[in-house]
Amino acid sequence: MTRIARFACSNAADADAAQCSCCGYDDPMFAPEAFARRDLFKRAGGLAGAAVLATPLMAQAQTPQLAQAQAPAREIVQIAGNVYRFRNNFHFSVFAVTPAGVIATDPINADAATWLKNELRTRFNQSVRYLVYSHDHPDHINGGEVFADTATVVAHERARDKIRDERRRTAPVNIAFSEALTLELGGTVAELEYVGRNHSDNSLVVRFPAARTLFAVDFIPVESVAFRDLHEGYVEEWFDSLKRVEAMDFDLLAPGHGPMGTKAHVRQFREYLETIRDGVLAGLRAGRSLDEIRPSIDLQKYANWAGYAQMRDLNIDGMHRYYTLFSRRSG
Ligand SMILES: [Zn+2]
Ligand SMILES: [Zn+2]
Repeated sequence: MTRIARFACSNAADADAAQCSCCGYDDPMFAPEAFARRDLFKRAGGLAGAAVLATPLMAQAQTPQLAQAQAPAREIVQIAGNVYRFRNNFHFSVFAVTPAGVIATDPINADAATWLKNELRTRFNQSVRYLVYSHDHPDHINGGEVFADTATVVAHERARDKIRDERRRTAPVNIAFSEALTLELGGTVAELEYVGRNHSDNSLVVRFPAARTLFAVDFIPVESVAFRDLHEGYVEEWFDSLKRVEAMDFDLLAPGHGPMGTKAHVRQFREYLETIRDGVLAGLRAGRSLDEIRPSIDLQKYANWAGYAQMRDLNIDGMHRYYTLFSRRSG
């Protein structure tokens, strides 16, 4: 079995090492720079081109650096209309600026949130009125207390419970929901929706209808494989999640890591997982061993995706483990 080094959490500064349960996408292999030579949007249609070419509003003096950077790579890029993308090293969130304040998402960590808070004040003369947590994982939602003086914090109800019960290093959740919630601030609408279990059991997506943009974290990587062996994933339900997102009305996909994408990338990732699932199930039915199943699945069309060389086999192993356990459970 392929062994890979354990990835260090690049966002550990604000989290106890033991508490930091990074999704794993905080590795340079998944950074946008890894995609530098690729024109993702050309193939996906011209629509997103304007967004990806948007000028960084306030990149720090240095361009974003990879893991060895001295200072965190932080920048704000306009996605569409009044919706912007905030980067802190390998983590991203989005926010919408309205005349009545800002609808923000994952604070990432206290240092990053402090930087963002200052930028929002100096550039837009605004403060955060709503802060939405994508899911409960600390490497995305630590630091919420930075915005707690002005913001109402929103999350899925299971995220709220974990944050409270485990005394996470972030602001407690003020408004929790189970299925869907619409926020409206200064004429901007943000539609929050829980799309079922996938990478976590409390992931929500945020859709900004006017900007035709969707924010989704850790369960729809853009032209990247899944992380390692899907150890926290709810595999069967993950497919349903992806289909639900595909049925939503949006054009631009803003993930929590890596480059921007489009709706087409949701389908591509689902098809990647389905190819693995179908290959694993066919192998199991034919009585093949995992060693025989791994090379039997043709994933060549994904060979240029981030993480492919390192995690192709691990993704198969995870799917194999899931369906082996699943058949035991239901047998
Ligand atoms: Zn993540
Ligand atoms: Zn996560």
